[in-house]
This record gives sequence, C-alpha cells and structure tokens, in this order.
Amino acid sequence: MAEISKAEIEQLVKQIVSNLENNSNSVVSSGSSYSSTQYGGRQFIGIYSDMNDAIAAAGVAYKAVRAMSVEKRERIISAIRDLTRKEAEIMADLGVTETKMGKREHKKLKHILVADKTPGTEDIVSEARTGDDGLTLVEMAPFGVVGAITPSTNPSETVICNSMGMIAAGNSVVFNPHPGAICTSNYAVDLVNRASRAAGGPDILVVSMDKPTMDSAKIMQTHPAIRLLVCTGGPGVVRSVLSSGKKAIGAGAGNPPVIVDDTADIVKAGKDIIDGCTFDNNLPCIAEKEVFAFNNIKDRLISEMLKNGAYMISSAQADALAKIVLVEVTDKKTGKLKKTVNRECVGRDAAVLLDKIGVKVGNEVRCIICEAAFEHPFVQEELMMPILPIVGVSDIDEAIDLAVKAEHGNRHTAHMHSKNIDNLSRFASAVETTIFVKNAPSYAGIGFGGEGHTTFTIAGPTGEGLTSARSFTRKRRCVMADSFRII
Ligand code: NAD
Repeated sequence: MAEISKAEIEQLVKQIVSNLENNSNSVVSSGSSYSSTQYGGRQFIGIYSDMNDAIAAAGVAYKAVRAMSVEKRERIISAIRDLTRKEAEIMADLGVTETKMGKREHKKLKHILVADKTPGTEDIVSEARTGDDGLTLVEMAPFGVVGAITPSTNPSETVICNSMGMIAAGNSVVFNPHPGAICTSNYAVDLVNRASRAAGGPDILVVSMDKPTMDSAKIMQTHPAIRLLVCTGGPGVVRSVLSSGKKAIGAGAGNPPVIVDDTADIVKAGKDIIDGCTFDNNLPCIAEKEVFAFNNIKDRLISEMLKNGAYMISSAQADALAKIVLVEVTDKKTGKLKKTVNRECVGRDAAVLLDKIGVKVGNEVRCIICEAAFEHPFVQEELMMPILPIVGVSDIDEAIDLAVKAEHGNRHTAHMHSKNIDNLSRFASAVETTIFVKNAPSYAGIGFGGEGHTTFTIAGPTGEGLTSARSFTRKRRCVMADSFRII
C-alpha cells in the first residue's frame, strides 16, 4: 500500500476542516444539525430536562448575580449585545427555519434592535428623599429567580431582551419557551451564557428546558423559588400566569387597528402601513392588523398600498382565504365552536397564502389587502399574517367607534395617520392602548425609527407597558432617621 506523504495529510486535514466549516454554515438551511440542546455540534449551556433542576441552577446563578458589582453586570450585558449583533443572522435563519414563520432580513433587524436599544443597568435608578426627619432611600431590588414564558413569534428576540433586562435588575431567569421555537429560544439562552462566560460571569446565568411543556410551565408557576413570572404570549397563557397567585407580568395579545383620515399624507400612509404590516410577515403583536379609512380617501390609500407591494383580492377570495387561515375549534370552557388561526398560515409569505386560493404571484407581493365589512373575521381576529382588511368609514366618530371595538379591549397598540390633532387626540384617548403610533409604521412604537427603548414584552394587562430592567424589580425602602440631611 502506498504511503501518504506529509503534504497529502495536511491537504486531507484542510479538506476535513473545510468540510466541517461548510457543514456548520449549512446546518440551518439543511435543517438537520440543530436541536433544542445543540447547534452545529456545539452543546448549549444551561438546558435542563427537569424544571426543578433548571430552577435550582437558576437559584445558583441568582446568588452569583447578587454578589456581582453593577459594573460587572453591565459588562455581561455589553457582551450579550456584541454576541447578539454578531449572531443575529444565525438566529434569524434558525428562527425562520424552525418555525417556518417570518422573514430572515426582518428577524435580523429585530435582533440588532434588541442589541442596540434594550436598556441595561442604567434603567435602575434609586430615589432619595430628605427632610426634617432624615434620609429615606428607595432602591430597585431584584426579585430573585424569574420564570419567563416566551412566544414562538419573536423567540430569540424575547429571550435575549428579557435576559438583558432581568439580569440588569439583578435577577436570574428560567425560561419555559414555546415548544415550536425551542431550538431558536435555547440558542439565545446559550448565547446569553456564552456572553456571561466571556465577560467573566457565571457559566450558567439563565436556563431553559430541552422539552418545555404545559406541565413544566405549571411547575415553574407553582415553585416557591420563583418570585416573579413574566409571560409573553396569547390570552390563554397570560390568563394562566395571572391566576398563579404569584406576582406576574403579562404581555398579551393585540389586534392593532389603524385609522386613516382625510387629512393624512396618503402617499406616506399607504407605504408606512404596508411596511409595518409586513414586517416579519406581521408576527409582531404591534403590527397593523386592520385599517379604518375615510371613504373619501380609501381608493387613493388602496392605490398607494398597491404601489408598495400590496395585492388586492375580491371579497369572494377573502372569504375563501378566511376558510383556510382560520379554523374552527371547540372552546374548552363553553363547548361552543370558535374561530382560531391556522398555525400553518401564521407568519407565512403573502405569496404562499395567495397560492392557497389559487393565485400565483412572485415575492414582490408582500401584503394581501381587501375591502371588508367590520364583522369580517380578518378584522376581528388577530391573524399574524400579511393580510390587511380595509373598512370604509364616513367620519371620525365611526372610525373611532369601530377601531376601538376591533381592538377588543386588549389596550395593546393602535395607529393613526392624520394631521388633525383633534382626531389624533380623540382616538388616542378613546382606545387606551399601551402604544399609540402617529404617522409612522407600527415598529416606530418599539424604537425602530421612533424614539425610546425597545422590548418584545409589552405588558398591557398588568400595566408595566414596554418592559425594561426596572419592570423586573421590587422597591425597597431604607430609612436613616434624623441624619444625613446635609443642607
Ligand atoms: P402562545 O400563547 O401560543 O404561546 C406562548 C407560550 O405560552 C408558549 O411557550 C406556550 O407553550 C405557552 N402556553 C400556552 N398556553 C399555556 C398555558 N395555559 N399554560 C402555560 N403555558 C402556556 O403564543 P405564540 O403563538 O407563540 O405568540 C403569539 C401570541 O402572543 C399573540 O397573541 C401575540 O399578540 C402575543 N404576543 C404578545 C407580545 C406582547 O409583548 N404583548 C409579544 C409577542 C407575542
């Protein structure tokens, strides 16, 4: 047998390394080399099979965070920002591959937004009050171990954003992520832990489950070591954590209406609404879900939407599509049939949805629009798909009345395009939402092209609003009687 030369061995090694690198780059598109515990062969840190073990590990992490200086916490957060920017594309790719929802380029932008605009330790501010009786200090203390439930729609974005805020506040976190996005969510958990290690923090700072279930969520909700529950998801899960008997932050469903009156810049409104509605294929809970347009500008608005990648379907086609994207299930409580979104259609491209009713279009079509009556399910249901119904209204009274009804009292998000400050104020006041965006795409409301910090946990039901580090703290008062007033 012929001997292999040193040069040939070197060549072989180079080839194997190169193959390995290529494989690790192609794992996501091949869809085979990732799981809830590893990515491209790298084992994730902080993933457990038993919720009790996960909570115990988070308890150890909490002790480490408590012992840490604020400066060190900030160093870890800064390392999380850096790694998130660096690996945004991987997480975007993984998110789309695993969940089959959303758009890679938008998911990448969402991760960069989280890295850039999630507040860190600067959000924690102590208050001091002095007077004749001395000094009283109020500090924002951690809760301890936070239990967090995260959605499939912004999986890694929510895990990273929650982790940054919760760690900045001095907590550790145990996640029970959505099972449909478990690999992407656990990639993010691992990223936070890698950042911690790189910045000299504990190896395990945040933890998650390899197979999260309703049962593991229940253990989390009832475990005595969990001091705060933070839930980002639909109405069912928010209801469940709010009835847990623990302090809970609930970030629930929305159905954001948009009003366009006849003073609006219609060219801008048409573009802004389509841009916002189609961002990540309408997955964000803040995205435009239905439009109420004054009858005297409705056709112009539609024509501007058509110039910006919208495709108009007839009412017969809308009814046919509604039968596909919404399915009827029996309500467990009432026993009655109710409509719910078809998970196979959530976050899908407009072209894929149109194909289901036999319409073939290219990817230049990013949104399906239709004229609809107020009662149409496209108006009433939170679809989370690039489908936008437009309801004609005769004046601002009708617009506000219907838009408030379509929001269903979620008090989540609403939008308006107008130059009439009275109309803007009236709608903002009537709809009582946590976010109200004027004359911009919806994502301006979470700091993308609008002022203010970002979050992917918008807590309407429990009132924290756009959560940040301070939302995950409890106030503690420390009193020094008769001293330390130095003036
Ligand atoms: P979902 O409600 O299906 O799931 C959320 C999480 O809750 C998952 O981890 C799921 O496994 C779990 N879960 C569901 N029911 C549960 C129960 N009874 N007990 C314990 N755990 C339970 O949400 P999704 O489809 O991933 O996300 C979409 C929904 O979340 C939409 O309604 C959207 O508006 C909302 N959302 C809100 C915000 C916000 O900030 N307010 C952000 C993102 C998503």
